[in-house]
This record gives sequence, C-alpha cells and structure tokens, in this order.
Amino acid sequence: MEKITTEKNRSLTGVFYHPSFSRRSYLTIGTRLKEFPEAFKPLREKFSNIVIFESKPISEELILRVHSPELLEGVRKDNLCSTAWHSAGGVVEATEKVYSGDIRNAFCFIGAGGHHAGKRNFWGFCCFNDVVLAIRNLRDKYGSAKIAIIDTDAHHGDGTRELIRDSSDVLHYCICSNDYSSEDGLKIDVSYFDKTPDGYLELVRNFAEYVRSFEPYLIFWYFGHDTHEGDYGDIGLTVRDYLKMAEILIALAEEICNGRIVVVLGGGSSPRIATESSLAIIEKLASTSGRVQG
Ligand SMILES: [Zn+2]
Ligand SMILES: [Zn+2]
Repeated sequence: MEKITTEKNRSLTGVFYHPSFSRRSYLTIGTRLKEFPEAFKPLREKFSNIVIFESKPISEELILRVHSPELLEGVRKDNLCSTAWHSAGGVVEATEKVYSGDIRNAFCFIGAGGHHAGKRNFWGFCCFNDVVLAIRNLRDKYGSAKIAIIDTDAHHGDGTRELIRDSSDVLHYCICSNDYSSEDGLKIDVSYFDKTPDGYLELVRNFAEYVRSFEPYLIFWYFGHDTHEGDYGDIGLTVRDYLKMAEILIALAEEICNGRIVVVLGGGSSPRIATESSLAIIEKLASTSGRVQG
C-alpha cells in the first residue's frame, strides 16, 4: 500500500511560504506575518538544510474533489480568502514532498486557514481545508495513505472532522473545548479546560499512544498560536510550550514514521508570537533533519 520512498534528500526541511501571506491575508490574521520574509534570515544563515519553497496555487480540480462547487464559488467571492489558493497549494505540495522523500519534514505558512472548512461551509478565517486536500491528493496519486493529525489550534477542527469522519485511515486528535471519542477510537477530542500548560503538554503526549498503535505513514500538526497568552484564543500557553510540543511531536514522527511530519500554521493574530513560534518550530525541524545523513 505505502509507496517505497527513494529517500533522496531526507536531511532537508522544507518551508512553504508565499509573499501574499504577509500582504493581503485574512483580516484577523492578516498582519501576523508582516515580519516575513526578512524574519527567515537568521535561520537560513544557521541552517543550510532549510529550503524555502514559494507556495503555488492549488488546482481547482483538486479543490472540487473535497469541497462543493458552492463553497469554491463562495471562497472566490470572498476578498478575505484571496490567499486561500496559495495557502492550500503549499500544504499539498509540502505533504507530497515529505511523503515521497524529497524532504524530511516541512513547515507551511498560510494566509487563510483550513480546519473550519467543511464540504459546503467555510468560516473562522478558513477557506479551503488544506490538510484534507493534501490527504486527498496523496490518496489519489499513491493509493490509500495512513495519516495522523493533531490539532492544537484553540478551536475545534470541525471542518476537518466532517471531511474525514468516515475515513478509517485517518487518526484525528483534536485538543479543544470538547471531550469525545468515536467508536473506533480514531476521532478524538480532548478538552483543555482546567489544564495548566503542563497539563496541556500531557494531552499532547497522550497523542503519542494513539500514534504508536495506529502507525501512520505521516503526521500533520495543525498548529494555531491563538492559544498563546494574549492572543484571541488565549489558554495561557507560551512559545516555550510550543517548543516543547515541537520536541514531542518531531520525536514521535522520528520514532514512528521516519521523521515524516508536516506542520501547518492555523490560527493566531500576533506578529510577534507568529514570528517567534514559527521560527522556533522550524529550527527544531531543521536541527532534527540536519542530524540525519542520507
Ligand atoms: Zn483557532
Ligand atoms: Zn476538537
């Protein structure tokens, strides 16, 4: 079932970005990437194994394999979704490159979010469901792909859940304000209510147990920094906590699926937090992939 990768450049970390994400993104999250692309500089000087890819627009033919024509029409008419094509396109390409062994791991910047976009409806700064589109692309090109998703955005990933509800080859673990587990144990919500930052990290560690028994080929980390102190989904987390999450999840990908992890930016509005947290996560990805020879 799984494609045998050629393991070409497994010491590379791919960063997917498009200049429009810093100029004309969705309203609330629209200015958070204003420090880019200049903010990449120090990391590029430090890590020669980081490759920056300019995100390409996704094809509408692929969009229509996941979303309804009405959703596509609605997104087209919504000025706040102008970056949606490049946002989803970057995630699709990053996932394919990690899957096929062109790069070891990836971080995807976006201008419009993904996890609130379902088959027919989109809301909450989301337009096209980037992660589900990337999974659909893998399935159509390579056959079925066993995938695990962890969602640490402050909000429930309702669109993603709707779209993968019946997929027995997708584990979806969402840390939000709900508690839920499907009968087969593959669709899980765990609540962060009453949790300290350490308690939250425990919920991230618990994901590892599901992943160890599910044995996915690739892990998505849907990362929202709206959970940061002072951001709009504040649950008291800080960049230091994000770095710990990165350590847990990247080590898990190394242990279970040969390092294949794609980090996708979700919600959050603060430029300072966006810059600090994304650079910290990319640094962790690059230092991990850089240790691997061949
Ligand atoms: Zn959110
Ligand atoms: Zn949830």
